[in-house]
Amino acid sequence: MPDNQTFIEFHETLMRLSHSPEFISSRREKKLAALVEMCSSLLGVERVSVWRLGENHDALLCEVLHQPGDKGAITGPSSAKLSQQEHPSYFEALSARLIEASQALSDPRTRSFRDSYLAPVGIHSMLDAPIFDDGRLSGVFCLEALHPREWSLAELSFVAALADTVSLTNTHVAWLRSKQKLEYLTHFDSLTGLANLQSLRDRMDYLVDKVKRRGSGDFVMVWVDIDRLKAINDGLGPQVGDQVIAETARRLRELQLPGKDQLARIGGDEFALVLRNVGANGMLDDALNRIMAQLSLPINLAEQTLNISVSLGVCHYPGDGDSAETLLRGAEAAMYHAKQQGRAQACSFDTSIQATARSRFALERRLRAAIRDDQLSVFHQPILDAASHTLVSTEALVRWQHPERGWLSPIEFLDVARSAVLMYGLGECVLRAVCHERQQARLMGLAMPVTTINLAAEQVLDPGLPALVQSICKEFEVDQRELHFEVTEDSIQGDSRTLKGVLDQLVAGGSELAIDDFGTGYSSLSRLKHLPFSKLKIDRSFIRDIPDDEDDCAITLSILGLARGLNLSVVAEGVETPGQEHWLKEQGCDFLQGYRYSRPVPFDTLVEAFFKQPTVTAT
Ligand code: C2E
Ligand code: CA
Ligand code: CA
Repeated sequence: MPDNQTFIEFHETLMRLSHSPEFISSRREKKLAALVEMCSSLLGVERVSVWRLGENHDALLCEVLHQPGDKGAITGPSSAKLSQQEHPSYFEALSARLIEASQALSDPRTRSFRDSYLAPVGIHSMLDAPIFDDGRLSGVFCLEALHPREWSLAELSFVAALADTVSLTNTHVAWLRSKQKLEYLTHFDSLTGLANLQSLRDRMDYLVDKVKRRGSGDFVMVWVDIDRLKAINDGLGPQVGDQVIAETARRLRELQLPGKDQLARIGGDEFALVLRNVGANGMLDDALNRIMAQLSLPINLAEQTLNISVSLGVCHYPGDGDSAETLLRGAEAAMYHAKQQGRAQACSFDTSIQATARSRFALERRLRAAIRDDQLSVFHQPILDAASHTLVSTEALVRWQHPERGWLSPIEFLDVARSAVLMYGLGECVLRAVCHERQQARLMGLAMPVTTINLAAEQVLDPGLPALVQSICKEFEVDQRELHFEVTEDSIQGDSRTLKGVLDQLVAGGSELAIDDFGTGYSSLSRLKHLPFSKLKIDRSFIRDIPDDEDDCAITLSILGLARGLNLSVVAEGVETPGQEHWLKEQGCDFLQGYRYSRPVPFDTLVEAFFKQPTVTAT
């Protein structure tokens, strides 16, 4: 589709500009000028401008305008102004979504400024994208064509991305300002302006102390968790996720509740609210219902309306815990329980939740110790070349021999590791285990194929990872070219500069990289192209019903096509049947992995089965 190609090119150009060091380090005015100039030349639009909502929120003021001049186009400040009072339809339309007015002179949204603005300047068509900061309209990115023009989908999506870029610039400026105030940084969250976890703890300590001293009073801590925010981030982009968070924060802040004390943002999509003296007469139930009702009202964003829900976990002081820490843990456990019961509900902490939380906590403690003492193991699963069926590498999959429960598979402990922030340590442990085995194999004179290791988001977002890989390789005398890495599609959504730096260095060190579980998340093509991946693994869920399920076949085919376009080779995982194998080979899939060839096996079994061929020693 030509539109698709245009779409990719536009976004790539924007990405190159907005990620360049000059852009990042330049002042806001320069950034805006660069954006309007790029937009004008890329889309061939005569006038492009950025407007900002004035302090009283009643007028838009033009900050920068790119327009044709006698000696070519010029970019500079402008004194143009549009008041809300005179143009209510425009403002109303803009607060809801993009305005694509091909016939601006007669369009009901823009015709109010026909005589004062459009006709004198000679404007025929407009494309205006609202800029939102913290979910509120803060300005507009404005394209004006001096002749009639229809706007394509690629152009609409591009202008929305430009508006988002301006919004990011605003947030960045605001952040830089607030950074000067150390007080602010240590106590408040920068996206929502709410108190952070530390100040919540301080406040709870104070309240606990006060109730103890007085010998009376109570309070509850309500843990508020947005349901399925990850799906929103993955599907619609992290900027949409941020808008949802900001809007949730705004609603929680504005909600009037009896006994409302502190409100804090304590994690990505998690908030906590302290309510005082709510013991009596169903007051608490009433408050919880109102929180849920308020947060489930639709959220109107520029491009779409979202319906979200929240899960609430409630923990009482003094009944359920005696310190800020135990109350937080209790409320979190209750929130998990609410999620397990099907989300969109509130759950109060009780003894059965306590038991679950305890066992989770015990698992976490054991796992922490296992990681510290390097006690995790890896199993290996072969990956075969599809044409020749030769072994090209093995994937290392972590296993944990629990002292009482025996061998545990990753699904039984990775969630705990993730929420306890243990993934980095776990990854290090896996790296060491793999390198240790490779060293053993080498001493035994065995020629091992490459090992492919899974990396967690925490690892690829840590600038220290490449050096860690190098030092472990050195310690076990492993050539880094023998280690390849897999990164799941959702872990590559984060901070793109750090991520790209880490991945580039891993490749520079000799490793090859694959995108894991492809198809399950939302990868912007333009980003994939900029990251140094050479392989793509199609998620098992698409392979499972091949070749009978038409949708899965279509998705797999389109992934194969995309991979070819991006010059990536493709691994199909979860191949179990001859039918799947046959179809995948026919469609040109490069590598195969799955139970059809082997389950993940311990190192010794792998050696027995595949490598017991001593290397020939020269005499
Ligand atoms: P994954 O990276 O997609 O790994 C493939 C998973 O699919 C493995 O599950 C493997 O045993 C299973 N599998 C392979 N072939 C077949 C098949 O034909 N049919 C079926 N039904 N399943 C198959 P496992 O070992 O339980 O790993 C689960 C997930 O845990 C992995 O999914 C990966 O995301 C994560 N994981 C495993 N080891 C590590 C690690 O060292 N670090 C990190 N960060 N994640 C890991
Ligand atoms: Ca994997
Ligand atoms: Ca996978």
